Amino acid sequence: MDPRLRRKECAVADDDMRPGERAIDWSEVKDASLEFIGEIRTPWMSRAECPRQGMLDGPICEVRVFERWRDALQDIDQFPRLEILYWLHQARRDLVLQCARHDTTPRGTFSLRSPVRPNPIGLSCVSLERREGTTLFVRGLDCLNGTPLLDIKPERALFETPAARIR
Ligand code: SAM
Repeated sequence: MDPRLRRKECAVADDDMRPGERAIDWSEVKDASLEFIGEIRTPWMSRAECPRQGMLDGPICEVRVFERWRDALQDIDQFPRLEILYWLHQARRDLVLQCARHDTTPRGTFSLRSPVRPNPIGLSCVSLERREGTTLFVRGLDCLNGTPLLDIKPERALFETPAARIR
C-alpha cells in the first residue's frame, strides 16, 4: 500500500466528530499488504457531492486498471454487472460509534455502510457499459474522483445458480 495514503497523513481533521460519536486509541494502526490495481474517475471532487450509494442510472464513471493487470481483464466483457471494490482513502478509520448523515443517533460502525471504518473498503455493484483497453465504463459508483481501485469481480448473483457453481 502506498504509505502516502495512510490515514494519519490524509486530510482528515481529528476533531471532525459529531456529538455522541466515539473513537478508539489506535496509534498502532498498520497497513495490510494490499495492492492498488487502478484508479477510479468520477465526476465527484468532494465527499459531500458523492451519492450515498451508487445508482445503476447514475453517471458513467471510469474504472482505470493499471497496464500491468491488462490480461486480468480478459473475458470481463461477458458480464453486464460487476462488483467494484475500492479504498475510501480519505476516510478516518478509528470510529467505533458514529452518526449517519442527517442522524443524531450514534450507531456501531459495523451496522453502517459508512466510509468510516477500520478498513475503509467500498463495494458497489455496477453495470458495465463498455470497455476501452484497460478502462471500464460503468454506472453505479459513489466514490470520489481518484479513489484507488482494489478489485473487480463479476456480480455474485451470476455465480449462485447450480450451472454456475463450477466457476
Ligand atoms: N457503496 C459503497 C459501500 O456500500 O461499501 C460505499 C458507500 S459510502 C456510504 C459512500 C460515501 O463515501 C460517499 O457518499 C462519500 O461521502 C464517501 N466517499 C466516497 N469516496 C470516498 C473516498 N475516496 N474517501 C473517503 N470517503 C469517500
